[in-house]
Amino acid sequence: MNDAKIYLSESEMPQQWYNIQADLPELPAPALNPATNKPAGPDDLAAIFPMELIKQEVSTERYIPIPDDLLEIYKLWRPTPLVRAYRLEEFLETPARIYFKNESVSPAGSHKPNTAVAQAYFNMKEGNHRLATETGAGQWGSALSFATRLFDMECTVYMVKVSFRQKPFRKSLIHLWGAEIYASPSENTAFGRKVLAKDPNSLGSLGIAISEAIEDTVTHPGTKYSLGSVLNHVLLHQTIIGQEVKKQFEIIGDYPDTVIGCVGGGSNFSGLAFPFLQDKISGKKKDLQVLAIEPASSPSMTKGYYRYDYGDSAGMTPLMKMHTLGHNFMPPGIHAGGLRYHGMAPLVSLVYKLGLIEARSYHQLDTFKAGIDFARIQGIVPAPETDHAILAAIDEALKCKKTGEEKAILFNFSGHGHFDMTAYDDYLAGKLENYAYPKKLIEEAMKDVPQID
Ligand SMILES: *Cc1c(COP(=O)(O)O)cnc(C)c1O
Repeated sequence: MNDAKIYLSESEMPQQWYNIQADLPELPAPALNPATNKPAGPDDLAAIFPMELIKQEVSTERYIPIPDDLLEIYKLWRPTPLVRAYRLEEFLETPARIYFKNESVSPAGSHKPNTAVAQAYFNMKEGNHRLATETGAGQWGSALSFATRLFDMECTVYMVKVSFRQKPFRKSLIHLWGAEIYASPSENTAFGRKVLAKDPNSLGSLGIAISEAIEDTVTHPGTKYSLGSVLNHVLLHQTIIGQEVKKQFEIIGDYPDTVIGCVGGGSNFSGLAFPFLQDKISGKKKDLQVLAIEPASSPSMTKGYYRYDYGDSAGMTPLMKMHTLGHNFMPPGIHAGGLRYHGMAPLVSLVYKLGLIEARSYHQLDTFKAGIDFARIQGIVPAPETDHAILAAIDEALKCKKTGEEKAILFNFSGHGHFDMTAYDDYLAGKLENYAYPKKLIEEAMKDVPQID
């Protein structure tokens, strides 16, 4: 048997991010200013983002160099291992080769620090000393707290109140790295106070938390806003993942037939898949299969509409052309908190429309079963989000068992589940349930989506 783990040395780490905008047959539709419905120019965005990130957002350069200082910081956990899941293959009795890229080895336990450190760095360079953000399940808030600490910056996190109560150790981690955290809705902003005046028991939502973070940003000098997924520059920073994997496959003389990632806003999926889509677009690997996996309860790609919509529920962000369930869509309280988002990254939406990728949705109970099987066979406890990618890899490997095909299947292990043990406890105690496809809720929410196009 060959080695189970394929490592790169630090000097082999990719020195540039890959920008898929250079290779697509068409560019994504421009983001629109929500006040005028006209394309949002740099001036519209400069109030909340630093110039360098605005430039990256619209760049069509194929490669964007990673600054040396940032490469040094990436070395705290990168390059990450590519792992051949031999034991899972044996368990499934499949002729397929199953590989996963292990992004759970980062300080915050997921892929999110790849963009958090980049965003903190470019903000620091432009003299911004403080970042404000929101977090749902807490993964993004902890990644940005870690990143801002490295540059002696301040960080304020608005965490959705229901998760704030359910996941006290994410808050502990954010405090430990020296950031400030508020349960949202909070008394800290006018918008939060307004929500609380209406409903003192509000448990919050991602949309409310985004609105609080943006208000905090525009009312404090030296502060910028930071987003952990969806935007082009966030997806760009994550492409270090797939570029590393390509080098790792070169070392062992293999190449994937199927590439899989779970999708919330789309960043870990894109980070792994876009460098491989480059080969699909150029014709080097025409028949590459690329799968984006979403929860059946929040099915923006498989059941949503390709429309202009807001990124948040308050309608404060620019309008983006994307697959959406409507910005007022309230996904059921499934445990893969990182996948509970009404929209999808405009770039992921575009490659889906162009037929370069496929989308699939799974029910929560099936994904937890796959995650627990994985933990019992390979040892690592996956995040509930990651369970979706694992289930897809298992399904594809079982198809190979039927057909006898010896495919190479690659999935992104986006994070570990050490802070999600309550969810696993609930699953093992039989307390979790599946949610039906929320057709009615989607139709209701789509009524509020502005008519543009
Ligand atoms: C946040 C998160 C996700 C979902 O976000 P994407 O931007 O779609 O990647 C998936 N897995 C983990 C572990 C996460 O923390």
